[in-house]
This record gives sequence, structure tokens and C-alpha cells, in this order.
Amino acid sequence: MERMRNARTRRRLDPRNWASWKPFGIGERKPNNYLELVKAFRSVKGNRRYAWRLLTQGTCDGCALGTKGMRDWTMDEVHLCNIRLRLLKLNTMPALDVSLLADVSGLERMRSAELRDLGRLPYPMLRRAGEPCFTRIGWDEALDLAAPHLRDGSRFGVYLTSRGVPNENYFAAQKAVRALGSNSVDNAARICHSPSTVALKQSIGAAATTCSYTDWIGSDLIVFIGSNPSNNQPVAMKYLYHAKKAGTKVAMVNAYREPGMDKYWVPSNAESALFGTKITDHFFGVNVGGDIGFLNGVLKHLIEDGRVDEAWVAEHTTGFEEVREAVAGQSWEELEALSGATREQMAELAGLLGEARSAVLVWSMGITQHTYGEDNVRAIVNLALARGFVGRDHCGLMPIRGHSGVQGGAEMGAYATGLPGGLPVTGENARRFADLWGFEVPTTPGLTATDMIDAAHAGELDALVSSGGNFLEVLPDPAYCREALSRLRLRVHVDIVLSSQMLVPAEDGDVLLLPAQTRYEMAGGVTETSTERRIIFSPEVEGPRIGEARPEWRIFTELAARARPELADRLRYSGTPEIRADIERAVPFYAGIAGLSEFGDNVQYGGRHLCPGGRFPTPDGRGRFAPVALPALERPDGSFMVATRRGKQFNSMVHERRDGFNGATREAVLISAHDADRLGLADGDPVELRSVAGERAFRGRVLRAPLMPGNLQIHWPEGNVLLDASRRSPDARIPDYNALATITKLPA
Ligand code: SF4
Repeated sequence: MERMRNARTRRRLDPRNWASWKPFGIGERKPNNYLELVKAFRSVKGNRRYAWRLLTQGTCDGCALGTKGMRDWTMDEVHLCNIRLRLLKLNTMPALDVSLLADVSGLERMRSAELRDLGRLPYPMLRRAGEPCFTRIGWDEALDLAAPHLRDGSRFGVYLTSRGVPNENYFAAQKAVRALGSNSVDNAARICHSPSTVALKQSIGAAATTCSYTDWIGSDLIVFIGSNPSNNQPVAMKYLYHAKKAGTKVAMVNAYREPGMDKYWVPSNAESALFGTKITDHFFGVNVGGDIGFLNGVLKHLIEDGRVDEAWVAEHTTGFEEVREAVAGQSWEELEALSGATREQMAELAGLLGEARSAVLVWSMGITQHTYGEDNVRAIVNLALARGFVGRDHCGLMPIRGHSGVQGGAEMGAYATGLPGGLPVTGENARRFADLWGFEVPTTPGLTATDMIDAAHAGELDALVSSGGNFLEVLPDPAYCREALSRLRLRVHVDIVLSSQMLVPAEDGDVLLLPAQTRYEMAGGVTETSTERRIIFSPEVEGPRIGEARPEWRIFTELAARARPELADRLRYSGTPEIRADIERAVPFYAGIAGLSEFGDNVQYGGRHLCPGGRFPTPDGRGRFAPVALPALERPDGSFMVATRRGKQFNSMVHERRDGFNGATREAVLISAHDADRLGLADGDPVELRSVAGERAFRGRVLRAPLMPGNLQIHWPEGNVLLDASRRSPDARIPDYNALATITKLPA
């Protein structure tokens, strides 16, 4: 009956949610999704049949919403977006001509997109110290060359990116690294959601989204905090379209009124494609880095107005009194100064949360990528616990994951501070895996991704193995990263295409390029874990194969087997089914992964909700409130808080130089009209941002935008030159992707 009612609601047109009466939003600034489709298919050129098979038979290797072909588990509709289409080119392109690597000087001047477009890496390639070229070598020579550098566990690090990397690769890689006597294996989760992992584990006992995407539809309220799915998880906007039709209200807490979260045209839905959909009902502007001030203010109102669910809190949580005391001691003036919002605005969100019977709180990197990212997440969890919005239908805590590999990466143990299953690195846990695998597992945490770069810079690391990724683009201060990379005795880059970090000359060492297979090429199929904890099987897809590219799990295990031949029989696998069986033994909550073998097979660990009925997987079964102190936010007179943002890109891969949502070019410096008027800045004016200490600078052009006064936004990764590499959060070690800077107009 409810299904029929829902189906009727979905079919009914609802002009109240329309963004515009102009058909297809003609004249509105917005991306043209249909043009995107044409561009993407054009880029695939000769391999369209293979591309179609990837779309219809594979699990998307873009963001972490998760698909089975072009379907999903939330809506019975087509699931496809421009990010996936853009990635098709990467997945279907032919091999590059390796003679191009005979002299890298020409390649060094190319942009990353141009390097990628050269084609897939087909063979192992070696560049010796002082040589201008890479030379093709055989796999045996490559592995034998690298293995001796991996015998001292304290002198090497391994990093894996998250785009497209399946669970099997993460698991095999971390096991290989641990067999080599090190925990210095880390993945891209470190630089996106590591604060969520730390704070959620402490507060609710699980480091994952507690609900499912279906919980969006029919929830009374969804609150997005520092999150912009219109850009980063486009199909989520279709879920929001349906949620709005079901009566869900959407609130957004952010420094910038993201145009894509204001109005969105869902291309696969006739009503939304024609008239657009108003998404955000309540926008709350906060300073970059001011979220704790705002969220604590909302909690303070909930407490003062008697809107805390006291019975639920008493039955299911601990620590509320400390939090009550902490926010009581924070004055409205302090909260307003930090957040940039008024106490009335805080009261408005408290009213929405207080009246809602259900709510989902969603956050992304606007929350996590701060030196106090863990506290930002704790402040969100406190709100959810205060209203009992965990463990039941249409409620949840959702750190939305941007990349298809990122949820599984840490759960597989490819994490310097966590063993498989997210277990902390302790003597007891290390012994458990030593017993399981038959070799010693080190008992102290390894180097995190950012610590590896520091160690390389300080000459304390000999070798770095990097699977995908590009430290030059991903981490703050590219010049510092370049120096660090150049000092290593050996760099091994395992990847499918060329990247700029591969071309950094080593001062006195070798650089080895090892060609990897995509997830779609791997025999035996692979799995990924989506944001909603769904472990999804993606089969091998018939199509062209590239040169001598190998699956990464095989590369890592073979490296370890050659460095520690006595352990070879405990490290080598016959194929991905055997790895899945090993994962099932090592990670009990991944039960069922060993049985996944066909297209569409999946298992959602924990079911629709974690913490069902308010029973938390903590030692006492209760959720934990945590008092959150206000960070000291010092803004010298005349300075701005600068945040880095994403444009038309996926990860650091820039797809277009202009963002269709707001017209921003990659050089844009987003500034409020208030500040622009005050400083006499017009759109297009050249400006320089300079870090307050004066040593770092970024040059760009003014773009007026609906941004909180006192704040600026520039694109990532271009804006990384302004960031201080030494600023990291205390526990998660995530870099701070924000900076304090001044702005100066340059001569035209
Ligand atoms: S929304 Fe994410 S999972 Fe879905 S098609 Fe786009 S990139 Fe892939």
C-alpha cells in the first residue's frame, strides 16, 4: 500500500518544487548534462561497445554511491552521471606510445589532463638517476629491482589512491606491507574522511554511514554540512528530487550558497529535467572553519528550548551532562563571532531539528579537512544523539564518500593507523592477524600519507610505492612534496596512466612505473564498498587488454614475496576469489563477500541501519556525547579565511576549465559582493592572495559569489600553493585545506 502511495506521489507533478517555469531552465546558468553526454561519448572514440559494456555490466568506479550497471538500490530508475561518463575515456583508451618517454622534458610541461590523454601505461618502465628517459624493462627485472628496497619496514611507505581501487587490491596490498614488517600503508581516506573515522568510532563505535540512501526519501529533514553532492555525487540529486516530492525539507550549512544545491535539473527525470527542482529550503551561511560555533549554538538552543530527546539520551547515550555544561559555558557572542551566523539562525535550525521526527545529517570535506576536523564531526554527532536521529528509518549520520574505493580502503586495513576491520593497531590486534596469516604483524602504527612525505623530505625514507594518486596535486604545498619525492632512493608508481609526480627527477635514485589493470579488466571480478556499506561485486568485463598491465593485488603480493621469499606461500593468491575468502576470515562484518561472484551480487554489512534501536557497537552499547571546545579562530585585520573547492572535476582530475554551475574558471577567487565592493574589486580583476605569514601566494581573478563575507574560495588543487603543509589535525592527521590570507588587487 505504502509502495503504491509512494509511486503515485512520485508520478504527480509538483510545481511547488520547480526551480523555473522556463522549459529546461533556458537562460539559467547550469551545466548542460545532455551536452556532457555527447562529449563523453565522443571522447571514447573507437571503443564504444566496450564502453557500453562497462556501463551496463560494471560497478561505477567514480564516487561511492555504488551501482550495478546503470541501476542502484535506492530508485528503480537509470543511474548515470557525467562523472562516470568522463571516466569512460580513461577506462577504454588504448596504450600510450612508450617512445614518448624517451625524453621526459617535453612531458614535464604538459598538464595532468594532457598526460592522461596520452594513453594507458602498457609496460614496466624504469628511469635511472640522472637519465632523461624511461626505458622499458620486464616485470621480473622491475620486481627484482624494487624488492630489496622493501626489506626494512622502517624505510619505506605505500600509498593507495581511492578512485576505482577495489577491496581486493587494498587487502592484498596491506597484507603484503605488513608481511614486510611495516604498518606504513595508507590510502586516500586519510585526506578526505579520516576525521570522520576517528570521531565516529569514538562516539558511535562504527566508522561508517549509519543509514542508507533510501532513508533520504521520506525523512522530515536532511541537513547538508560542508557538502555539495550536486558537484561530487550527481545521482544523489535525483534522490533529493524524490525526497522533496515526498515532503522532505533540505537545509544546508555552508560558507557558499552552492548554486547546484539551490536548484538542480535532474537529466533523467522528465519533471526535473523540464522545470528543475528547488533543493535547499533553508540555507545557513557560516564562516569557513566556523561550523563548531554554529553547530554548538544549535545544540545550545535545543537544550535551552527543551527539545533534546531526554528519554532517548538517558537510555542510549553517555556524556550528555558534560556536553550540556560545555555549551552552557560558550556565550552567544563567542558562537556568533566564530560562526559568522546569528543566534536567530542557530535557533532556526534548532527549530527544524526539534520539530523533525526524523533527520539525516550529511557532511563532506567542508567539515573534515580542518585541523579540528575530528571536533567538527563530533559536533554533528552531538546534534544527532541529542535528537535520537540514529538507528531508525529516515534517520542517520552520513559522511558521504566521494570515491568508490574510499570506504573499503580503511576497512581492508590499507591504513597506517588501522588493521583490517578498522581495528586499531595494538599488540593484541596485531597478534590476531599474525595468527591468521602466519607471520609477525607490527604492533605500532605506521606512517600516514602525509607523514610519509615528511619522512621522505627529511631523508628518513628510502622508498615509496604509490598506487595511483598524485601527491603533487593532492597535498598542500606542491613544492615541498616535489622536494620530498625527489629525495627518495626508489619511487614505484603503480598506475594506469601517466601523472606529473612520475616525472619528478630523483636526485639519486630510480623511478619505476608499473602498469596496472582497471577494475573492469581484473580476472575473477572485484568488489567495492559504497557509502551505504554495500559491498558490490563488479565482474570482469570483456574487452581489449593493455600490454602487460597486471592487477595491483598481484603486483603488491609479488613484491613482498620477492622481498621475503620465506613468506611467499602465505602472500600469493590464485585470484580474487581467494582474496575475498581471506577478507571474510579477517573482517567478520564483511561476512558474505566470499560468496559474491556474479553481476549484481552485493551484501550491505550491518543492514539498512547501524546502531539499530539505539544499540551502539561500543563496549557499553551506548553512544557517546563529546564536549567540543571552540577552536581559536584568529583572523588578523584585513585577512580572509580561504577554502579550497571543487569545480568541474573528479578528484584532482579537472574535466573542464569552467564550472557550469557558477561560471568559475580554475583561476577564480570567489568573494562576497560585500567584500568586493569594499575593496573595489570587479569580476575578472586580477588579484593575489598571500598567506598571512607572507611566504605563499596564489594569483587568480575575482568572481563575485554568494559567499559569507570575510571568506574566499579558490579551486583545489590549484590553490594548494597557498596551503601550509605542516597544518594537520591531531588524531586523523588530515591536512588543513584552508588558509588565512590577504587579498591584493594586481595591475590589469
Ligand atoms: S553518482 Fe557516483 S556512483 Fe553514480 S554514476 Fe555518478 S560517479 Fe558513479
